[in-house]
Amino acid sequence: MLSNRKEYNRDYREKHIDEERERNRKWYLEHKYRKNQKDKIRRMNIRKKAIQIVSKNNIPYCVGCGCDDIRLLEINHINGGGYKERVRKGAKLLYCNIISGERKIDDLDIRCKPCNSIHYLELKCGEKLPFNITWTKDRYSPNIS
Ligand SMILES: [Zn+2]
Repeated sequence: MLSNRKEYNRDYREKHIDEERERNRKWYLEHKYRKNQKDKIRRMNIRKKAIQIVSKNNIPYCVGCGCDDIRLLEINHINGGGYKERVRKGAKLLYCNIISGERKIDDLDIRCKPCNSIHYLELKCGEKLPFNITWTKDRYSPNIS
């Protein structure tokens, strides 16, 4: 009985595949904006969770300057190779592996974008460079809470 039902469903789908595609396409066009917004929020939450896991004491801040604005923070590869890993895996898989525990976090830390760039340049040059990043929270007032 169940196998007959499965066969019937499969046959029905094969016969009506064009209708189904058209229905899915219409649904996507009608709900595109809302779906994209939901996907964006989901991606941001995955990134935020991965950054919290890599952070010491689960409080995200830049180890270089102390910046604690989550929008500016990045996961830094202490020994380099972050670009290669991101290209090979994709950022989402890197975050998911960190969250699931598949990816060890010993060689990772959190830095803001400027500190991460300077860290990269220092790795390339092999010496400390004369830059000093200062995070002045009192002079910065974000509009987003
Ligand atoms: Zn920083």
